Order: sequence, then C-alpha cells, then structure tokens
Amino acid sequence: MAKTGMDRLTELKGEIFKCIHCKACRFAYSGEPSRKGIGEFKGKQGSVLYEGMVDSCPAGIEYGWEAFWNAGKIWIARSILSGDLDFTEEVRDVIMPCITCGQCSAQCENKIPTVDIIESLRAACIESGVPLIDKHELVVKLVKELNNPYGGKKDERMKWAKDAGLEKFVNNKNAKIAYYVGCTASYRQVEVAIATAKLFEALGMNFTLIDEEVCCGSPFFRIGAIDTAQALMKKNLENFKNVEKVYFSCAGCYRTFTIDYPKWMDEEKLPFTTQHAFELIAKLITDKKIKFKPNAELKGKVVTYHDPCHTGRHFGIEFEQELIKQSKNLMLDMRKLDQKLEEWFEKPRTILKQLEKDVGIKFVEMYRIKMNSMCCGAGGGVRAGYPDFSLRTASLRCDEANAVNADILTTECPFCWRNLTDANEMYNHGMKVMGVLQMITEYELLDITTKPTEKDFL
Ligand code: SF4
Ligand code: SF4
Repeated sequence: MAKTGMDRLTELKGEIFKCIHCKACRFAYSGEPSRKGIGEFKGKQGSVLYEGMVDSCPAGIEYGWEAFWNAGKIWIARSILSGDLDFTEEVRDVIMPCITCGQCSAQCENKIPTVDIIESLRAACIESGVPLIDKHELVVKLVKELNNPYGGKKDERMKWAKDAGLEKFVNNKNAKIAYYVGCTASYRQVEVAIATAKLFEALGMNFTLIDEEVCCGSPFFRIGAIDTAQALMKKNLENFKNVEKVYFSCAGCYRTFTIDYPKWMDEEKLPFTTQHAFELIAKLITDKKIKFKPNAELKGKVVTYHDPCHTGRHFGIEFEQELIKQSKNLMLDMRKLDQKLEEWFEKPRTILKQLEKDVGIKFVEMYRIKMNSMCCGAGGGVRAGYPDFSLRTASLRCDEANAVNADILTTECPFCWRNLTDANEMYNHGMKVMGVLQMITEYELLDITTKPTEKDFL
C-alpha cells in the first residue's frame, strides 16, 4: 500500500526529536574557496556581509518570524506528533513558504534530514483535509488534466525537438538510453532541451525522447500533493521501463527520479540507472575524449556557477544519510563524506575549469558554494505559490554573483535558470544567465578528440 505523509512523518519521529532548537541551521558558513570572505557588498537587496556566517534560510530571511526558520518547522512537526498542535490553514501558511532548499539540513550538526521532515509535514497537513493554497491547487488541476503544470498541450511537448531538427530521436525504438526532458525545458526553457539533445547528437549518442513522458512530480512531492506525485511517478516508470539509462538536464527531475521515486514506489530499485548530462560531459573531459574550442567572444569573460540545490546539496545530504545508515557506531567518518562530496561537487567544475583552460573564460566561485550554496528561490512550490518571495531570493543569489563581478552566471537546471534570469532582469543585475551545456552548444565549443562509444554513455 502506498505510503502517506503521516506514515513518513511517523517514520521520521526519531529524527524530529533529535532537534535541540540550537538554530545553527539559520546560518551558512562558507568562505569557500579562500575562507577569507569578501567583505561587505551593496547589492540590489541591500547590503550583505560576505564574511563568516551569513543568514542562509530564505524562508527565515523573507518572513523573519521564528516559526518560518527551519527550527520552527521542526518544532511544529514535533508538536503535531505529540498531539499538542493540529493542522490548520495557519500552520499550512507557515510550512508552505519554504523552498526545501536543504540549507538547514546541510548546516545541522545533528544531521537531521530537514527536507524529508518538511515535505512529510506538508503531505500530512494536506491529507488531514487542510486545502492547498489556491496557486498550488491550480498547478495540481493542470497536471491532472495535461500531465504538466504549465498548461501545455500533450502534442506540443516535443515541439522543440521537431523545430530543432531532432525529430528522429522522438520515440526512437532502437535506443537503450533516454533523455527525460521535463516540463520546464519542454514548454518554457526550450534552449536547455535543444542544447542538451544537440550535445548528445554531436557526441554520437543513440537516444530516445519519449513523447509519453509526463511531469516528474517534483513540485507535487514538495508541496505535499503526494497522490498526484505518485500517479505521475507510476506513469513515468511505465513509460521508461524499456531503457537501461535515463539522462536529465533538469536538476529537479533528476533528484525526483533518483531520490524521491525509490522512497515512494513499491519496488526497491529503479528499473534503469540515472545521470545528469553534466556528469557525462565531466567524465568525457576526465577521460580526455572531449575538450573545447577557443572562442573570442567568451575569452576573458568572468563566469561563475550556481549549484542547483537539487543536483548539489540534496545529493550531498543523501550521501550523508547513507553513510550514517552504514555506520556501525555513532561516530561518522567525516573524511569519507568529505571525499565523496568533493568528488560530487567537482563534476560541474571539471567542465568550467576545462572551459577556462581551452576557451579562455575566467572561472570564479561565489562566496557560498557546494553544500553551502544559496538557493535560487524557485523550488519547493515557492515560484508558483509565492512568486515575490521567490524572485527576491533569486536576486540575493544574483547579488552574490555580482559581488565576484561575474559577466555570466551559469547553472545546470532550467528552473534555476528561469528564476535567476527573471531576477537578473527585474532587479537589473546586469549579467547573462545561461546553462553550462547551453554555453557549449550555443557557442559551438565542443571538440571531440576520441569519439565516445555506447559504453561511455551507459
Ligand atoms: S535542525 Fe539541527 S541545527 Fe536546526 S535547530 Fe534543530 S538541531 Fe539545531
Ligand atoms: S529548506 Fe531552505 S527555506 Fe526551508 S527552512 Fe530549510 S533553509 Fe529555510
């Protein structure tokens, strides 16, 4: 029988009661990479002191009140489980404006899986009969009718592929590999879909685009509409059951297939393996099968990288939880975790460092990166439900890129791309926002030194 939100919340009881309300999860310390800090910066959202600890919970920064910071939400979960509090619309309005960015989880020395707790709390709240907020209700209605939250028509899902001359890959029956495009890249940021598929084509990959693909369910897992999310998950598992590997260009879809599906589906394991496209490109660089061509337009441009929460910290938290489960005693060997995290976060940086070497860009890091990266503000149902809060958070991230004089702010997720692009324009941050793979395709930078084979892709 499918798990309910209350089942998950009850499973997490031990974790919830580990919270000592120390509130360390309000701040992120990150002097990465120099640990020196870069001092005070006058941004579009006011002055920020990039030195030592910085306020890091977007929900707390936006609303200020105790209940909105993570520690408040964990104590709401505690009160629900101990019967001291009932779910009401007032409780919902405190737990919903949270980006589920996981910064709190990364900062918590008690290793509490806060995102799991917040998402289960939301699911239990909705199951108890408290309605979703109107804006979330609307996206649920759209996805139920059209299998995507944007209101796009089914026969237009692969329009971008047909327009870009990539039709031969749609329902390509001979392929063992699929590219799951996701709703944002299919209906909104088609640049990301085109760039990724063209890159796969240039590398000689035989892949399929499955036109029956439906929304991955990410927004619905996040806002607590678990029935809707699980129904979408079942459709995707059926649609992709005949391939061996699925590639992604969206951080949120990748996280949802890889981390959420195994937690909510009946089977223990996915029937295919999953990887983000940037992992493949990084591996081909490391294996010396590809490099990049010089480009006069990009030469000397200062480029920075935003780690999407869903491909960055959320995977880091999973590695941490996995290590805790495997640990025979209470002492967690941090060296193992640090090494795994370093390898993980280095993957997109392998691409950027190669671009620096071959193309002549100047790659600089923002003050908060990797596990401590500041969120772009789009996730957790916040862009749909609380757009002003969402864009103010994105603008805080753009401030951080401005503080290192970036000409180009790159990322590897169409949803981050959208929110950062909107904030960049709305608040006049004056940068260009683009995907790393988009940069490679649009500037025709790919230089294949040894043709990859199917073995490289699988
Ligand atoms: S979640 Fe962790 S860091 Fe935050 S208040 Fe609780 S124990 Fe402290
Ligand atoms: S997930 Fe992000 S927004 Fe939500 S409480 Fe934690 S740090 Fe704040």
